[in-house]
Amino acid sequence: MLHGIGVARGIAIGKAYLMEHGQPEIAEYTVPEYLIDAEIDRYNSALDGARNQLIELRTEVPSGVPGEVTDFIDAHLLMLEDSAISRAPIKMVRRQHCNAEWALKQQRDTLVQVFEEMEDPYLRTRKDDIDHVINRIMQLLLQQENDTQELLEPEEASAPRIIVAHNLNTADILLLHQQSIAGIITEHGAPNSHSAILARSLHIPTVMGAGNSHRYLQDGEPLILNGNNGIILINSDLSTIAHYTLLQQQQRERKVSLSRLRSQAAVTRDNVSVSLQGNVELPDEIDAMLQAGGRDIGLYRTEFLFLNQETLPSEEEQYENYRSVVEQIDGATLTIRTLDIGSDKPIPATAEMESADNPALGLRAVRLTLKYLDLLIPQIRAILRASAHGKIRMMIPMITSMHEIVQIQNHLEEEKRLLKREGFSFDPALKLGAMIETPAAALSADGFAQRLDFLSIGTNDLSQYTLAIDRTDDQVNYLFDPLHPAVLRLIHNVIQASKKNGIPVSLCGELAGDDRYTRLLLGMGLREFSMSPSLLPEVKQEVLNTRVDMTEPLVEQILQSPFHDEIYRLFEQINRFSPDHS
Ligand code: PEP
Ligand code: MG
Repeated sequence: MLHGIGVARGIAIGKAYLMEHGQPEIAEYTVPEYLIDAEIDRYNSALDGARNQLIELRTEVPSGVPGEVTDFIDAHLLMLEDSAISRAPIKMVRRQHCNAEWALKQQRDTLVQVFEEMEDPYLRTRKDDIDHVINRIMQLLLQQENDTQELLEPEEASAPRIIVAHNLNTADILLLHQQSIAGIITEHGAPNSHSAILARSLHIPTVMGAGNSHRYLQDGEPLILNGNNGIILINSDLSTIAHYTLLQQQQRERKVSLSRLRSQAAVTRDNVSVSLQGNVELPDEIDAMLQAGGRDIGLYRTEFLFLNQETLPSEEEQYENYRSVVEQIDGATLTIRTLDIGSDKPIPATAEMESADNPALGLRAVRLTLKYLDLLIPQIRAILRASAHGKIRMMIPMITSMHEIVQIQNHLEEEKRLLKREGFSFDPALKLGAMIETPAAALSADGFAQRLDFLSIGTNDLSQYTLAIDRTDDQVNYLFDPLHPAVLRLIHNVIQASKKNGIPVSLCGELAGDDRYTRLLLGMGLREFSMSPSLLPEVKQEVLNTRVDMTEPLVEQILQSPFHDEIYRLFEQINRFSPDHS
């Protein structure tokens, strides 16, 4: 048994598929005699491919670029011709009957070791060149259709796969989802990371922070993963498998039974209406949100349009996307968040913009888009143009100062002026709001509320920045505590500031979808919750079981208390209380 943090609920039963830094870990298998020549042909064609790539790269180097660049490519071309790379792996395939990738991996390990042991520091660094060249060949080998492996492992290829990786970013998870996997295990990562949020949205049972899983798990090994409690079982016996299959079935049944609440209004026992909205990461989720009874999209994360793309999406592409989403929700409100990349959501098109040592405190979200207007302006224009087709609001992530709000407002007004001149229609009164995700923003909420149309509390980042814990780091995840008095007081401050200024406020961090906190947040005055569509039914169930008037006095005491233990005691009291026995 291995332990990690359960970050996306659900049970997965399947076989381990080990990956290394987003790439499949190199598998070793025996190649039968009659397929050896074909295996060597595979290696030679990958070698040719790598050579052609480098030659092409060389012709693309613009004139005027320093000679070192072409020297560097020439050096890589020479390495390809060296017998250590061009012939040694072939000999190994012939002698050991191993697959070409395995032979190349072994050769890489040997060469890297030789370089690492060199006295001369300059020569030692040349091991990076070896790695580059070998990776280039390896990529081509892995991309090839591999008849040998298919021939040898037909069942393995079709068994449900549980991915085991050191760490995965959101782009990796999107790619894996397209290959329909059963579950994910990572050695690092925490429940509030964007990767975890995405895994939850995609309903992929996931355990993160399962340290050393690469050491303990083997490729193809049967696994059971429990995303509810973070437990991973290896080589289970039949009765354990039967038990978990039953649990899987029960969870499916619970989902079906909760779906009966779909058309019921979210109103508490004492008649307080609550708006439950959807956080949407990918347009595919809109259907699920409507099925779960959600109408409005409280947070449309637009990063997916930019992930795994070498070039930025055009204004037209973005407009088409936003328009189709707002049309799908048929008269409900779509809150589009402008691009929030940087930190744990890097994208290839901006890779060189982000070289900070401390990316979570660096050029992320609105800071990045205000600096690189090629990111911001097409998105503002696309949002405005889509607003002609339905109720759209624009929301800005990671605002920390009034100055940023004013800059965004100026750009918005300028684009309205230009679009009008160009003859486009749009909503001239498009609502503009900010996410409150830093202590600075939460403490400035009163001022922000005077300048904006709405606020939305992003508790994932607000907790990260208030408690000084990296939301992606499993080692400090134990410090993540939504009941910390500082976090609670900041949330309350934002709700109060919005009420005072008569503007709507929602909460769209993961806290909104955790039904253990529903009563507390209702007692704090929150009436709009935005969450992953899959969590909507559970939260609705909790709303239906709450009496706000009974909750409020306890919440008042919580907000007064500086003591953790007292806060926990009161919190448990709130959740224990049954509205039927009041
Ligand atoms: C948040 O920070 O709470 C939030 C909703 O934004 P994200 O998780 O996308 O950073
Ligand atoms: Mg955030």
